[in-house]
Amino acid sequence: SVTGDARVIELMERYFRYLESVPEDRFLIGYWPKIRAGDQLAAIHWLYNRTGEKWLLDLAEKTHRHTARWDQGVIDWHNVNIAQGFREPAQWWVQSHLQSDYDAAERNWQEVRRLYGQVPGGMFGADENAREGFDDPRQAIETCGIVEEMLSDEILIALTGEMVWADRCENVAFNMLPAAFTADMGALRYLTAPNQPVSDAQNHSPGIQNGGAMFLMSPHRHRCCQHNAGHGWPYYAQHLWYATPDNGLAAVLYSECTVTAKVGKDATVTIDEQTDYPFGETVRLEISLDAPTRFPLSLRIPGWCTDAKISVNGQPVPVQAQPGTLSTIVRNWRDGDVIELVLPMEVRVHRWEANHGAVSIDRGPLSYALDIGEEYRLVEDAGAQNKNLTDEQIARLNKRWPAYEILPTGAWNYGLLPDQPIVVEQYGLGVGSPWTPDTTPVALWAKARRIPQWQIDMYGLAAPLQDSPARTDEPVETVRLIPMGAARIRISAFPVASTDPDAHVWSEPQRPKRLYDASASHTYAGDRVSAIADDIVPANSNDHAVPRHTFWPHTGTTEWLQATFDEPRTVRSVSVYWFDDTGVGRCRVPVSWTLHYRQGNQWHPVATTDEFGVEKDRFNTVTFEPVQTDALRLEVVLQPDFSGGVLEWKIE
Ligand SMILES: [Zn+2]
Repeated sequence: SVTGDARVIELMERYFRYLESVPEDRFLIGYWPKIRAGDQLAAIHWLYNRTGEKWLLDLAEKTHRHTARWDQGVIDWHNVNIAQGFREPAQWWVQSHLQSDYDAAERNWQEVRRLYGQVPGGMFGADENAREGFDDPRQAIETCGIVEEMLSDEILIALTGEMVWADRCENVAFNMLPAAFTADMGALRYLTAPNQPVSDAQNHSPGIQNGGAMFLMSPHRHRCCQHNAGHGWPYYAQHLWYATPDNGLAAVLYSECTVTAKVGKDATVTIDEQTDYPFGETVRLEISLDAPTRFPLSLRIPGWCTDAKISVNGQPVPVQAQPGTLSTIVRNWRDGDVIELVLPMEVRVHRWEANHGAVSIDRGPLSYALDIGEEYRLVEDAGAQNKNLTDEQIARLNKRWPAYEILPTGAWNYGLLPDQPIVVEQYGLGVGSPWTPDTTPVALWAKARRIPQWQIDMYGLAAPLQDSPARTDEPVETVRLIPMGAARIRISAFPVASTDPDAHVWSEPQRPKRLYDASASHTYAGDRVSAIADDIVPANSNDHAVPRHTFWPHTGTTEWLQATFDEPRTVRSVSVYWFDDTGVGRCRVPVSWTLHYRQGNQWHPVATTDEFGVEKDRFNTVTFEPVQTDALRLEVVLQPDFSGGVLEWKIE
């Protein structure tokens, strides 16, 4: 309907006729199609609303019948599946008329937020899948999940007319989406979190679930997100205005725009909207009409706004609506009429009781993050993913499409003093993207104290929050807060700082050590070989909470691990803790292993009568005749059809 191209209708009709002909036992088969079939339902309903052909409703029924049962609850915990799938029952409700279908979308949304969304920004922690126990604000969301959540909210606005979906949509749009890209939108990352003070190219798994350079701002990777990311703002622009059932218009999502639509009895109105929203409080609408026309004009009063004001041609109009609903003005509109909506933005403190009593700071639709200071470090990433490029192509791509690590230049481990006054500073909208620390039109100044024990942990992530109030004797500082959308590295869920002797004393996170230099014949991209030498002892062989090394996806091969010492040393025993994820994955303890030490360029077997053990859930220790050496090597024979790994390798 954007282009008005009639061929779109014809194409979709023919495609849906094809789907109609697909036998039931071959329709929407497989995991992804079933989970995400609500998208197909939306497309069928879209066409039905234009052609009114009854067979499309039958195809919609067939589609729903083969869709995963989101009406029964959150039946899958993959972040994009949730963002895309949770709404399907409410889409089907337009045909089923069952209240339980209508209610299911809201219930699904609430369930995900209750468990994993007790954080600012409107999304939830599912850094591939949501995982039990991983609900800290450092857990991230995929860029695809952000975009799909926004589209789901926009669809639900149309289906339900409930403005809470608009509140949820703009929360995600303003606080999460802009930070998933660089300001020029040239690079994006796979994962963005409410608390993410470092955005580097390192692997942070299993602290976040997905391994590899998921925080790297790169145009050259993050596959699915590259394709989804570009839809976020166009979808948003498409849903700024909605038609209402009484032949009126509703301004639901606010942005500078011009809308032309049919209203009343077949009149055409054009409305020019001017606003600095979400930074400014005022929305100005100017009406263009050929002749005076009576129609209802509805304005959304955001859920956070308790004191909205509306005037028409300078005259105040009483606002009847509650926050989170539409305020409707029915009158005989004339050419040149001007409506002004003022949405006063108060600073609010949100307390996340379920996340250790952390707080976040909101003003209007924006949540705020610490202005940590960002260093953009160039990464030549073009050749990393595509091995078919020539050196010349790689050089050209790296120049045209730079990738960046974003590293903190200042401290990030602050607790807020939320009872102290927070000062609003407004700079006005400049040129270019407003979503950067330097160009943000608004900033807040708040009082804070550092919490020295809050540090980067063994995964390279901000350590999880502990209870607030957090005890600290550090001096009070005034810190600058910027919109979350402008903060690509960020702390937005803060502990509350306190000097009260009864306040909770935080403990420092366990930090990885480097017992020796570790290397391997092969390490899976989602793991890191340094894990074997980090002195972090697992709870068992299937412990997914500690860093690990695996040879995945190599199976049945002979592999090696090497420990290289900075200086030659005398060693007499090694202890190996094998990784074995029976019941979860395809790594097992190996068939056998041997140990060699290096002298000069030669490798020699150690002299021992000990057994080279492959027991699970404990260290397998081998003692041997002491040797003076600068390197040891484990040779590992993997089980046929299985891979393997090591959680820790101690050397004495
Ligand atoms: Zn993606």
